[in-house]
Amino acid sequence: MTQEKAVIALFDRSRKTNDVQVGIGDDGAVLRDGTVLTVDTMVEGVHWDDKLTPEDVGWKLVAVNVSDLGAMGAKPAWALLAMALPSPLDMTWTERFREGLFEALNFYDLPLIGGDTVSGPTRTLTLTVGGKAAHPVLRSTGKPGDDVYITGELGLAAAGFLDPAPTPAARAALCRPTPPVRFGVALAESGLVTAMMDLSDGLREDLATLCRASSVGAEIDPAQVPGAADLAHRFSFGEDYQLLFTAPPDARSAVESLSRSQAVPIARIGRLTAGGPVRLLGASWPAPLYTHFPPGPR
Ligand code: ADP
Ligand code: MG
Repeated sequence: MTQEKAVIALFDRSRKTNDVQVGIGDDGAVLRDGTVLTVDTMVEGVHWDDKLTPEDVGWKLVAVNVSDLGAMGAKPAWALLAMALPSPLDMTWTERFREGLFEALNFYDLPLIGGDTVSGPTRTLTLTVGGKAAHPVLRSTGKPGDDVYITGELGLAAAGFLDPAPTPAARAALCRPTPPVRFGVALAESGLVTAMMDLSDGLREDLATLCRASSVGAEIDPAQVPGAADLAHRFSFGEDYQLLFTAPPDARSAVESLSRSQAVPIARIGRLTAGGPVRLLGASWPAPLYTHFPPGPR
């Protein structure tokens, strides 16, 4: 478990109320009426540097949040924006950030309905996004024997961040991620999938999270995972904003036809097992490339 996860556990004092179906621990919380809520923060110098333009930061703030909603099977319906901006205000930066933000809000078709604006030492941007899911899909409901799938390719954002001269696709993955939100909703509504989450921390970390939540193990064939040649980039960097989902083997042809009809590429990369480790066949998992709280003196 990362230190970040250990901190989250400190705050997990969730008790069931009549209004809440799913509390802390999934990509979003689910209210009794099917409303799904998620919040994500981006801090300058932590979540972005000058590889991202202000427009890119605006786009990405929306993308990382709708990614979590899509992974729950919820269509984003509204957003709230909280900004801490250093004083004196840099209006040029702020207007350029707004351009990218609204470009993404329009792309995913959701209105900004409120927020908060304060001064702070470092640009810190928080977006809260909500929407409805008719059939929310959790991380905790994968079953032994289920197939494991991902959408798209993994490790492109890693290449965008780490390569001195990234390809346009790698740059776009880092700066303008486009999570397959509509496909997540379609998968959820199809009733084919058993568990789903988005890939934000890297397949190594996120699959371990899904398996822990579902009390299962997994076997993954690295040769079936499309993406960066470098295994650490592909499995242990993160920022993929693709979907990780599971479905029983008898759903294969229906899952594949949904992928074709939505033009979202998928790969079947392995299966869930009854207990046991989360294994990469023929290789060991590369070490994580990033942590929010590296070990150090207290
Ligand atoms: P994701 O990467 O999908 O956004 P995280 O791994 O960041 O998910 O968070 C895991 C779970 O912990 C989520 O349900 C999230 O809402 C919850 N969480 C994270 N930080 C806090 C916090 N400070 N207080 C309460 N819940 C939190
Ligand atoms: Mg998530």
